[in-house]
Amino acid sequence: MIRITNTLSGKKEEFIPLEEGRVKMYVCGPTVYNLIHVGNARAAVVFDSFRRYLEYRGYSVTYVQNFTDIDDKIIKTANEEGISTKRLSDRYVAEYFKDACRLGIEPATFHPRTTDFVNEIIDFISVLQKKGFAYSKNGDVYFDVSAFKSYGALSNRKLSDMRSGARVEINDSKDDPLDFVLWKAAKAGEPSWNSPWKSGRPGWHIECSVMSTTLLGDSFDIHAGGNDLIFPHHENERAQSEAWSGKKWVNYWMHNGMISVKKEKMSKSLGNIFNVREALRVYGPNALRMYLLSKHYRSPMEFSSDRMEEAKASYNRIANAMDEIKRKIGDDTKAVEDSFSKEWRARMNEALDDDFNTPQAFSVIFELVKEALLTDDREHLAKIRALFMEWNYFLGFDFEKKNVNADAFVETLVELRNTARVRNDYEQADAIRKKLKELGVEIRDSSNGSHWRWM
Ligand SMILES: [Zn+2]
Repeated sequence: MIRITNTLSGKKEEFIPLEEGRVKMYVCGPTVYNLIHVGNARAAVVFDSFRRYLEYRGYSVTYVQNFTDIDDKIIKTANEEGISTKRLSDRYVAEYFKDACRLGIEPATFHPRTTDFVNEIIDFISVLQKKGFAYSKNGDVYFDVSAFKSYGALSNRKLSDMRSGARVEINDSKDDPLDFVLWKAAKAGEPSWNSPWKSGRPGWHIECSVMSTTLLGDSFDIHAGGNDLIFPHHENERAQSEAWSGKKWVNYWMHNGMISVKKEKMSKSLGNIFNVREALRVYGPNALRMYLLSKHYRSPMEFSSDRMEEAKASYNRIANAMDEIKRKIGDDTKAVEDSFSKEWRARMNEALDDDFNTPQAFSVIFELVKEALLTDDREHLAKIRALFMEWNYFLGFDFEKKNVNADAFVETLVELRNTARVRNDYEQADAIRKKLKELGVEIRDSSNGSHWRWM
């Protein structure tokens, strides 16, 4: 029996999908105006791994992760660069997939983008307006929070408390400071779409309601994301969706904790981002994945070089055990249903069935690592390897990739190329440059020598 802590009830609940054997799941994805940071990667890796665990346990999972490809930050960055919002967001969607792929994140079943759903969003808002949950003012459309009775249930807040804490803007045309925007009339020079109101663009919250219900149906099993999204984003998504359909929208809400750097929440606005590209370059994908899964997904985590070194050492314990098995028995593997394998599988399932307790799962793995190092029995080792490989379906490590220091490796190649150039062997120098480019390294030659960077 799988149990999940449901933010809506605040309790650990038995997971029962709406349809037997099938799970429909939505995770809020990144706003694509920059490279993703380690905080974004936590939700992506944790829920990727959880989705794969559900698949491992026999469920067929439809997994949706969106890209927010229109919003204030995107418009601002595109203007600064003098390019269209489409060009900017296309670039960072592609960059997201590069990082996700290196991090071993499986593509979602669907990766919808807001601007592909504008017609559906307009229809959805029109229904809300017809049902009396939305009103338009000066071309903007707002959700009327007072019309939705259980507003605040997800974030466990009372309307009166929220109201006293809400910021009232001087030029606000909203009836209530808590009302939130569904459709924003365009300002001069902003990208816009025609609508029954003024031409404009969707507000942030509405996109997730529309993309999830379009792709997964009026009601689905799991909605996940970072706990910084509970209020107002998820509270608002829930209000819109249930007002629209008149049905319960999501059965289980899962939220991961934040990653802090020196106790500050990691976010782009704080300027303390450690982007994933950088972390991958320094520590490699396996150590980063290990780090992100090493704590329970609901707990807060600290990001520091010490924590990353610990994660790297933990991952290396597993990778070294795999190497040791290979040294002892070659590529033999034995997936069996005997009492030994059954017992270890049961222990792993017990850990992860309990609200996806990955730290507990790793303690099971480290016990098995010890067993692997203590025995020379071929059959025993082949069974242990089979279990590691089986579990790796949801852990998502790449055991083939060694944790060599990639930078030192690149430095060596760049030096070799420099020596080739000094002796005028341009053929060799070009061959090395080409090879490095294939590996994602760009070299620039200038009067003060060659500089390189990861692309
Ligand atoms: Zn969302």
